[in-house]
Amino acid sequence: NLSDRLGNVFDRLRGRGALSEQDVRDAMREVRVALLEADVALPVVRRFIDAVTEKAIGTEVLKSVTPGQQVVKIVNDELVEMLGGEEVEGLTLEAKPPVVIMMVGLQGSGKTTTTAKLGKLLKERHGKKALMASLDVNRPAAQEQLAVLGEQVSVATLPIVAGQQPVDIARRAMESAKLQSADVLLLDTAGRLHVDEALMAEMKAVAGVSTPTEVLLVVDSLTGQDAVNVARSFTEEVPLTGVVLTRMDGDARGGAALSMRHVTGKPIKFAGTGEKLDAIEAFDPKRVAGRILGMGDVVSLVEKAAATIKEEEAEAMAKRMAKGQFDLNDLRTQLRQMQNMGGLGMLAGMLPGMKKAKAALSQSGMDDKVLVHMDAIIGSMTPKERANPALMNAKRKKRVAAGSGLQVQDVNKLLKMHQEMSRAMKQIKKMGGLKGLGALLG
Ligand code: GDP
Ligand code: MG
Repeated sequence: NLSDRLGNVFDRLRGRGALSEQDVRDAMREVRVALLEADVALPVVRRFIDAVTEKAIGTEVLKSVTPGQQVVKIVNDELVEMLGGEEVEGLTLEAKPPVVIMMVGLQGSGKTTTTAKLGKLLKERHGKKALMASLDVNRPAAQEQLAVLGEQVSVATLPIVAGQQPVDIARRAMESAKLQSADVLLLDTAGRLHVDEALMAEMKAVAGVSTPTEVLLVVDSLTGQDAVNVARSFTEEVPLTGVVLTRMDGDARGGAALSMRHVTGKPIKFAGTGEKLDAIEAFDPKRVAGRILGMGDVVSLVEKAAATIKEEEAEAMAKRMAKGQFDLNDLRTQLRQMQNMGGLGMLAGMLPGMKKAKAALSQSGMDDKVLVHMDAIIGSMTPKERANPALMNAKRKKRVAAGSGLQVQDVNKLLKMHQEMSRAMKQIKKMGGLKGLGALLG
């Protein structure tokens, strides 16, 4: 985990004035391991480290941050930049209709699902009339699969004609799209388990008859190092215009994103975030950078928090956290902020440790009402108990439960959540505290 690793390096860096070559090289060794752990391909890791090292050495350390934080900022910024920077890359739809979008990739990467997701998105968000056609004649029932998804999202699919070859289906799809004046034609192509010549020949032939405006490579973000070879093969054979990374809802650390960007030189346009047909998002370089660095979405949390939390409150809290203190008074402040920030659901997964806290809560069937309950529980405690939750023995718990109109088990849940959060805060403390991170964002 990079936060732990960097935590160690940063402790050594802390308190010094500027970034020396040795500081940077030490930190980069840890960054390198973290990137490899996040499944970024080796050549990509090398290039990244070189770029960052060059930038970081000799950098003046801002007054308000530690050298360690400065390195994190440089690493993070460079990662965001390499992942695509600030600009959002959407689909090109300005060509003469029907605009053809061709989906390519290995079997099981999520092409058919993504085709349906895009069909829905084009219809609902762009007001475009789409036609979808499956060219997958290898996998049994592949064409039916798209037809079923088409029904679900109410987007037309090309009627299935048994025995037709992919290129012929592509031609028929073009004609049909023109006849029904569709704005967009989505071509869902066949995949294989491995890249082979026959597949590439088929992709080329299909591209030849349909002259696609977009050729999107669909890659499973869990494939890690392999993804690079797949991307390289496709890049050499078909004119890719972008990448879609699927299964970003899973355990993938996002390393594939950096590799894809590097190998294809094309923007990552979308991230698939689930099996449901609305689970597709514009690719967000900032969030993925945070994920690769293994810091949860600390950066977005800080941004969001900064907008909600009053300046003085934040400062007081940061001071307490910096000392490793986080008592029930702080928890109460946090609970109230959570309510302002959109509840538990939004916080889950953003802070390291919050996922666990949330899981513990949802397991017991609790929801955002819990925020109000917890507030009531803390309200029933004495100032001493709030400052020192360890005081809470069975007798005190009973009293507090009665006072707040809740059960002893609710009091226990609150205390457990407080523990989980203290643990998460300690992780953040290693990064220099919320305030330090906030200052980085400047
Ligand atoms: P294809 O062989 O490339 O057409 O892949 P499919 O579209 O048939 O997808 C294979 C499996 O992956 C299906 O079970 C999909 O529901 C699932 N899948 C696709 N995209 C995502 C995603 O973004 N997240 C998750 N969790 N599952 C996905
Ligand atoms: Mg398919």
